[in-house]
Amino acid sequence: MQIKRLRLTGFKSFVDPADLRIEPGLTGIVGPNGCGKSNLLEALRWVMGETSAKSMRGAGMEDVIFAGTATRPSRDFAEVTIQADQVGEDDELEVVRRIERGAGSAYRINGRDVRAKDVALMFADAATGAHSPALVSQGRISAIIMAKPGERRAMLEEAAGISGLHVRRKDAEQRLRATEANLTRLDEVIGDQE
Ligand code: ATP
Repeated sequence: MQIKRLRLTGFKSFVDPADLRIEPGLTGIVGPNGCGKSNLLEALRWVMGETSAKSMRGAGMEDVIFAGTATRPSRDFAEVTIQADQVGEDDELEVVRRIERGAGSAYRINGRDVRAKDVALMFADAATGAHSPALVSQGRISAIIMAKPGERRAMLEEAAGISGLHVRRKDAEQRLRATEANLTRLDEVIGDQE
C-alpha cells in the first residue's frame, strides 16, 4: 500500500484544511519546534485506527480536536483523510476518520461507513497501520533497540502483515468458547427433559 495523500481539518494544530502529497520513498518531516511535525504523524496513526488517546498525547480522544487559541475559537470536529494506492488494485483507497465532540469517532472506507475494527484489520493485512514500524516518531529508534524479544517479534509480525491474523484468531476463539458454553447448556436442558 502506498499512501499518497493526507488531508486534515480541525485536527490538533491543523485548524484550517491542510492537504499534503506523500511521494514514494522515505518521507521526513522537518520544521521548527512546535510547528506540528508530530501532529502529522499522529494524524496518520489516528486515521488508521489508533484507539489510545494517551499515545495521541491526550487525556481523551476528543483532545485531537482543535482546542482554540487566543485568536481562534475551538472546533467541534476533526477529520483526517488518507488516499492510497493498493497493490494489485486499480481503484484508489480513501479512508476517513471523523470525531465530533460528544459523538465519538466514525470511519468511512471509499464512502462506506465501517467499524474501527474493519479499518484496523485492513491496514494490518496491508502490513501497515497505527502501530506500523514504517511510521518513525521521536524516540522510536531507541525504543526498537531497547525492545524486549517479544516486543521485537510483534514489530516483525506487524511488518510482515500477519498481526491481523492474531485479532481474527482471538475472535474465533471467543466464538468457539461461546459455542461450547451453548452446547453445555443444551446438554443440561436435554438432560433435564429426559
Ligand atoms: P517538537 O519539534 O518540539 O517535537 P513538533 O513540530 O513535533 O514539535 P507538535 O508536537 O506536533 O510539534 O505540535 C505541538 C503544537 O500543537 C503545540 O503548539 C500544541 O499547542 C498544538 N496542539 C496540540 N494539540 C492541539 C489541539 N487539540 N488544539 C490546538 N493545538 C494543539
